[in-house]
Amino acid sequence: MKVHLRQIPQGGTLHLEGAEDPVSLGLEEIGARPESPLQYSLDIGVSSGGLFATGQLNLRVRLTCVACLNEFESELTEPFVLQEELDGREVVDLTSHMREDIQLALPAHPRCDAKGRRICPARFSPAPGDAHRHRGEAPWDALDKLNAEKLENQ
Ligand SMILES: [Zn+2]
Repeated sequence: MKVHLRQIPQGGTLHLEGAEDPVSLGLEEIGARPESPLQYSLDIGVSSGGLFATGQLNLRVRLTCVACLNEFESELTEPFVLQEELDGREVVDLTSHMREDIQLALPAHPRCDAKGRRICPARFSPAPGDAHRHRGEAPWDALDKLNAEKLENQ
């Protein structure tokens, strides 16, 4: 998304709201499939330090759970803050900054139960090839035992 400096009122800010084609985000390369356009709501201004922008980015993506391998949808809402020197430029392209923010906001190891909305099926029936992670005592078993011992000692 390109911003022309002459669009910005002197001493004020320009409010930009809209939607960008998510193809420019390059999310497929990192295993995420955009399910909506990238929506942005930004206030952009110019100060002595250069161009500044603050606002919010919003995108729905489809991710693959690392545990059960099921796909699930996740909604990203990310604050966007940027300050950039202008070096005499009249046009500033914000796309690469938005891409960076969205890529950083995506979990490196997505889990379908990350937001507590559902229980990942792999927690109870390990997916093929994932069984080694479930061998031995699960952490919550140890915790249960500890709690039981505590109760006995009281
Ligand atoms: Zn899962």
